[in-house]
Amino acid sequence: MKTKIIKLKEDKLSKEDLEIIDQAFRDGKLVVFPTETVYGLGANGLDPDADKKIFKAKGRPSDNPLILHIAYMSQINELVKEIPDVARELSDNFWPGPLTMIFNKSDLVPDAVTAGLDTVAIRMPSHPVAREILKYTKLPIAAPSANLSGKPSPTTYKRVMEDLDGLVDIIVDGGKPSYGIESTVLDLTSDPAMILRPGGVTKEDLRKIIPNIAIDNTIIDSNDKTVPKSPGQKYKHYAPQADCYTFAGDPFNVVNEINKRIETNKDKKIAVLATDQTVDEYEGAYMVINLGSRENLREIAQNLFEALRSCDDNKVDIIYAEGFELRGLGVGIMNRLLKASAGKVVLGL
Ligand code: AMP
Ligand code: MG
Repeated sequence: MKTKIIKLKEDKLSKEDLEIIDQAFRDGKLVVFPTETVYGLGANGLDPDADKKIFKAKGRPSDNPLILHIAYMSQINELVKEIPDVARELSDNFWPGPLTMIFNKSDLVPDAVTAGLDTVAIRMPSHPVAREILKYTKLPIAAPSANLSGKPSPTTYKRVMEDLDGLVDIIVDGGKPSYGIESTVLDLTSDPAMILRPGGVTKEDLRKIIPNIAIDNTIIDSNDKTVPKSPGQKYKHYAPQADCYTFAGDPFNVVNEINKRIETNKDKKIAVLATDQTVDEYEGAYMVINLGSRENLREIAQNLFEALRSCDDNKVDIIYAEGFELRGLGVGIMNRLLKASAGKVVLGL
């Protein structure tokens, strides 16, 4: 199919473009739009045939449920069985923003969205373009990340085009998302509430509202072989083609360990994911990608998926990634690195 490209004018969508996008959703079509986490591949969440098209376009396994995106708190009423008090408190504090909450679903939500589960994931994005679209259409929009399954989520228009040009009806070119990793997924149907995927809203943020919050151990411990509670977490997402290893601990020891490995793999094309603090330390590597400053984890998260994709572009054999402390946004970043490394992680250096 021929994909229609919509560009922003002064960072906004025109009234005509909003109308075109709304009509596309009502006609069961697919629209890619920017959010503050990553680009999303959207369809009318109440139209099962449209939702199935999302799985087809992405090559997404059919047992991996979709998140519904809304603009107004009142939209939740018809989508869930009940709204726990804590959900209102969380929405007052973190919506719009990168927090997805899981509720018991109402009968209105199709199985195509929830992959047959009794629960539904809902988020209210804060990106101004996503918000404009969602406010205009007033439909709940099912929207996973706008990448082909198995590739890192797209954080630039260029990567969306690479994956989905010709496979979707409309792509909105909306610049670079400000978080760069996907939303935090919080299950409100378990007691205590449990973080199923770490993201931009951190455990420390959530603890202020839910002091006894739990975290699914499989998301940060790659040796934990129990089945993750979030279906999406069991897939080897975010995986670059190269063999990836992550090293964490004292930055000085991490640099030494990576350099030792570079030395013993001289015949290989090696990329290092480094930081402002260490970028000049890796002389033997084929390429050194600077993710940004360790003092600014938002910057690191923003650049992470693009870095993994550029390793693929350059056909590197091995990626050595520096790790981060497991607090704040560091948990979300490490979760993505652990998945990219498929368990090949050395901690506590
Ligand atoms: P994506 O939109 O591509 O970031 O993927 C959505 C993520 O939310 C996946 O990891 C899903 O497994 C997770 N998710 C969506 N709905 C549910 C649900 N009802 N229960 C648990 N996890 C969910
Ligand atoms: Mg995804």
